[in-house]
Order: sequence, then C-alpha cells, then structure tokens
Amino acid sequence: MSIEDVLGQIRVEPRSTPIIRALFSPPQLLPVCCLCGIIRDETDAIPGFGRWMTRESYRETHGVNPSDLPLTHTYCPECLVKVRIAVRQYFLELECHRNSVLSFPDIDLSPEAA
Ligand SMILES: [Zn+2]
Repeated sequence: MSIEDVLGQIRVEPRSTPIIRALFSPPQLLPVCCLCGIIRDETDAIPGFGRWMTRESYRETHGVNPSDLPLTHTYCPECLVKVRIAVRQYFLELECHRNSVLSFPDIDLSPEAA
C-alpha cells in the first residue's frame, strides 16, 4: 500500500461531526457580547483570545445551543470600541456641563438680596 493509497483513505471530517461533538466539552461560562450577542469561542484557545462567532456558527460548530449554556457578558472588539467612544463622549459632555455650571456668576438668592 502506497502513501497515496493511505492518504486517499483519510477523510477530513468537518468540525461539527458527531465524533468531534462527543469530544467537545462545553465551557463553564460562555462569553457573549452584551451589545451585539456574538459569542467568543474559547475552545482550544487561550482564555480571552477565542474567535468571535454568531450563535448559529457556534451551534453548527459544536452542536450545542449557546442558550443552553451559562453565559457571561463582555464586549466584542467592535462593540468595545463603540462603548469607549460613547463613554469618552459622556465624560466630555459631563465636563463641559460642569464647566458651564461653574462659570455662571454667583447669584445671591437670599431674601436680603431681593
Ligand atoms: Zn459586540
């Protein structure tokens, strides 16, 4: 039997086959973006550095409905940028508001001033 014969017998199975699913152990907590809902799949990855995928992709890849797993909320990279911009804008507006309030002249509202 030649090497070509052996290689010809090897079939590459997609990740969602029942054999692979049987080896899949679901995470204790599944990270989900709290804004857009995509999932960070940390299977075979360093925690915090998994790849982001839709719920449908996760279900197809692992044969597990993400809704059946305990979820933890986080931000995906795209939403994190949006949140940082929004928070920065909030604090800039807050600072502008404080400066405008502080720049008002002191007004004496006491009865003696009337
Ligand atoms: Zn997101």
